[in-house]
Amino acid sequence: MTKRILLSTPHMSGEEIKFIQEAFDTNWIAPVGPNIEAFEEEFCQVIGGGYAAALSAGTAALHLALRLVGVSPGDEVFCSTLTFIATANPIVYQKAKPVFIDSDGISWNMDPNLLAETIEYRAKIGKLPKAVILVHLYGQSADIDPILKVCNNYSIPLIEDAAEALGATYKGKAPGTFGKIGIYSFNGNKIITTSGGGMLVSKDPQLVTKAKFLATQARDPAPHYQHSEIGYNYRLSNILAGVGRGQLKVLQDRVAARRKNFEIYQQELGNLPGIQFMPEASYGKTTRWLTCITVDPKKFGVDRETLRLKLNEKHIETRPVWKPLHLQPVFADCECIGGTIAEDLFTNGLCLPSGSNLKIEDLKRVINAIIQVSNYTRS
Ligand SMILES: *Cc1c(COP(=O)(O)O)cnc(C)c1O
Repeated sequence: MTKRILLSTPHMSGEEIKFIQEAFDTNWIAPVGPNIEAFEEEFCQVIGGGYAAALSAGTAALHLALRLVGVSPGDEVFCSTLTFIATANPIVYQKAKPVFIDSDGISWNMDPNLLAETIEYRAKIGKLPKAVILVHLYGQSADIDPILKVCNNYSIPLIEDAAEALGATYKGKAPGTFGKIGIYSFNGNKIITTSGGGMLVSKDPQLVTKAKFLATQARDPAPHYQHSEIGYNYRLSNILAGVGRGQLKVLQDRVAARRKNFEIYQQELGNLPGIQFMPEASYGKTTRWLTCITVDPKKFGVDRETLRLKLNEKHIETRPVWKPLHLQPVFADCECIGGTIAEDLFTNGLCLPSGSNLKIEDLKRVINAIIQVSNYTRS
């Protein structure tokens, strides 16, 4: 039986088990405890300061972020269209409406010029969004400065979805730390994982205190259980925070391993006709969380989907680049500004196996399989 090569799998450091053991030894088997506080502090050190709330998921963190900036029923929220649906679902939880913004071809993230034009036009007609959610996709930061500038000019809070970009840089700093609130994810396929989990960060300690309050059922300070607001049960467990502490120690190794995967793919496949790699924008460093290519069917011989199916036959898991949210049936009635760049990236884009625990033999198998498809289709 040929082993199936997966897209991105958990990669433990071995340190996690010590923190889990500590939680068991001290009986902190709860969504409170010393690992949680330590994980938050250590996380802030890694991203360069601020305050953090450890949560049960990145999606929960986004939901709280929208609550904290006051997104309410009927509001509009501008949001990157090329992303995972978790970015936009919390907009709907708040009974607000997403307006999707296309990508640029440089970073594959939200086009800063398109956003600026749209916000300036919306200011003229008196219809500004309540917030902007900016996604940093596949380990690469969006071009944050111009986006932050236009948001600040119109006092629109910027929320950064850095779920896929922990370990990346933008002009030397961590994406996720520029806007009013940033969020990260520790889902099983992310660059580091707690099996499931997320983090909300902000430079404003009051916002983070409020996030923790909302994440624990919004309990008023009283000995009896008293509530003046509706909250959630969104805290991370002390055991999983222990996993996070062990993972955080090896973040830089994980970034290096994923960048190395990319380098090997690019070296071996970069000259194949019709294959292009996701560019790295000059303003920062991507983690290459996933190595993404685009396939030009005319030059390569087959289209992306045929390549994906052929690789699947060879027990290699790949995934199309995210289907843009404005093409999702559930968002059929939502406005999208532009959209063709994201659509093309979806049509032609493919994410290759990219785990930091891939062996060189695995990479070679993927590389040879892609070369075989290419040779076969052109001979
Ligand atoms: C994974 C992911 C999320 C959601 O994080 P969860 O921890 O799975 O809830 C949000 N946005 C993006 C872009 C993601 O990739």
